[in-house]
Amino acid sequence: MTTAPLPDRPRPGPAPEGEPLRKMMFATIERMEHDRAPLSLGLIRRMMAYTRPHARLRNKLLAMVVLRSIQLPLLAGTIGAVIDGPVRGGDVPGIFLGAAAFAGLALFTIITLHFRARWALMLGELAIRDLREAVFAHLQRMTMGFFHRTKAGRIISRITSDVEAMRVGVQDVLFVSLVNLGQMAVAAVLMAYYDWMLFAVVLLLVPVLWVLNVEFRRRASRQHRTIQESFSRITSTLAESVNGIRVTQGFVREDVNAGLFAELVADHSRYNVGLARVQGVFLPLLEFNSQLFIAVLLVVGGWQILRDQPLVDLGNVVMFFFLANLFFGPIGQLGLQYDRAMAAMAGAERVFGLLDTPPDWTDDPQAEDLPAIAGRVELRDVRFAYTPNRPVLRGVTLTAEPGQMIALVGQSGGGKSTIVNLIAKFYLAQAGQVLIDGRDIRLIRSDSLHRQMGIVLQQNFLFSGTIMENIRLGRPEATDDEVRQAAASLDCLDLIESLSDGFATVVGERGSGLSLGQRQLVCFTRAMLADPRILILDEATSSIDAVTEARIQKALATLFAGRTSFVVAHRLSTIRKADSILVVDDGRIVRQGRYEDLFASNGTA
Ligand code: ADP
Ligand code: MG
Repeated sequence: MTTAPLPDRPRPGPAPEGEPLRKMMFATIERMEHDRAPLSLGLIRRMMAYTRPHARLRNKLLAMVVLRSIQLPLLAGTIGAVIDGPVRGGDVPGIFLGAAAFAGLALFTIITLHFRARWALMLGELAIRDLREAVFAHLQRMTMGFFHRTKAGRIISRITSDVEAMRVGVQDVLFVSLVNLGQMAVAAVLMAYYDWMLFAVVLLLVPVLWVLNVEFRRRASRQHRTIQESFSRITSTLAESVNGIRVTQGFVREDVNAGLFAELVADHSRYNVGLARVQGVFLPLLEFNSQLFIAVLLVVGGWQILRDQPLVDLGNVVMFFFLANLFFGPIGQLGLQYDRAMAAMAGAERVFGLLDTPPDWTDDPQAEDLPAIAGRVELRDVRFAYTPNRPVLRGVTLTAEPGQMIALVGQSGGGKSTIVNLIAKFYLAQAGQVLIDGRDIRLIRSDSLHRQMGIVLQQNFLFSGTIMENIRLGRPEATDDEVRQAAASLDCLDLIESLSDGFATVVGERGSGLSLGQRQLVCFTRAMLADPRILILDEATSSIDAVTEARIQKALATLFAGRTSFVVAHRLSTIRKADSILVVDDGRIVRQGRYEDLFASNGTA
């Protein structure tokens, strides 16, 4: 059975050549990660290792699995026994007794199911909780390079969708499949025991059902994938259109966009219809197979009954009817579980892949905590490249005495941010030395260094929460008054207090709700409160308007006072007072001196 070819619409995937507009106006979708992987014993074992801390629960659960596998076939057996015994013999009390036994067993079965399902859920949650914690903790240890290389979306899907697929694997797939297989095995044994000939008929149908099932899953999952891809094209296009609405309207692209979007939506619904077509063919076929079996059972069973003494095997035929259902039912289930198992494998592969990725570097085992420092910073012939063979710093040497303010200027891409990244030990230099108070930065524990360092970047970051909480990040034990004082010493107390709720103003994700300049003030106050010995401002004043900047010039002077500061800035007003200005170009310091030396003489930078 083949599905008709899809009508002649463009296929999903990268836009064909000659569609530059579509390419430009619409989100290009990065290649999706594979969502199925073959079963692997190693991965399964590693996943199950997360149930080890909860071994008691897991073992109770396994006991329930065994019980469940026996109970259902046993129920069918009871019916057969009651029909063959009391029903045939006309033993009315016996019928009631049999019915009571059946009801009792059924109740027991239901209770078992309750605990089987509940404990599987608990076990899965516990295991996955531990796994998520482990992945998150691992992520926190990764170095900057990793976050630069890896798309945020991918990192997030490790902890969300991948772990979710694994949760389904632990919680459902494993135990449901075990029950299914157990139930099939017990039903098979009972059938073979009571009537091997009928059982042989049953067995004949198994391969047919299995092949149908696997083929159906294969097609459905391919179709599913197409649907998912087209859907993510829709959502990301939607997101881009909403975010870029000003551009769209500004360039009068509404109609064109609407047309392209309509195409995406039409594609999507076409793929959905495609899936419905696959289901429409296979689901009835699968059902027909079970019906076919009943027909076969009736013929074979009826023939046997007629051939022997009447009624002799009626109990068997009825029992077979139930047992065969218990035997066939799981085949469809197993097909589904197999599918989900492969999704869990793909998730597990990536999650464990991440867990197995070591940080690019870790603190030297001999690294020590940094004692309170004076704040002398020295770079000696430092060379550095983010990617091999593409040098970014080609031998930088500089010295900042304690309390000095060093300004870094120069064209973008010259390496200014890279220099401060190395001073902050976000990256390690490939050659040369970075020294803090004469100690090699490699022999200083990163966290102890960061405790004495304050950093404010251009792309400042506020967490969602109140302004008070965001400032206090700089020194968690600070009192409200100390926070206020920090703001006051920067002369921006009134600016913060004039916000709708003052310090209690809640900022959204990434600080939405505040202007860029206001956010920057919060970050300055955060650095002020932390009271670091070394301060780094990387284009931190670029997003502050000239009026506010003029106002906080004095405040910045307070912030710099007594601290070694590195300031990357474009506005000359910010760096006028620097003890030394370094002009960075193409990974080298090409000129250095005081403001007067560098600019006043000829006026060029
Ligand atoms: P500046 O701050 O002076 O504008 P940067 O130090 O940010 O310059 O960048 C210097 C060079 O290093 C640039 O060519 C930039 O493209 C490159 N670069 C910066 N960050 C990375 C990174 N994480 N990975 C690879 N290359 C980078
Ligand atoms: Mg920069």
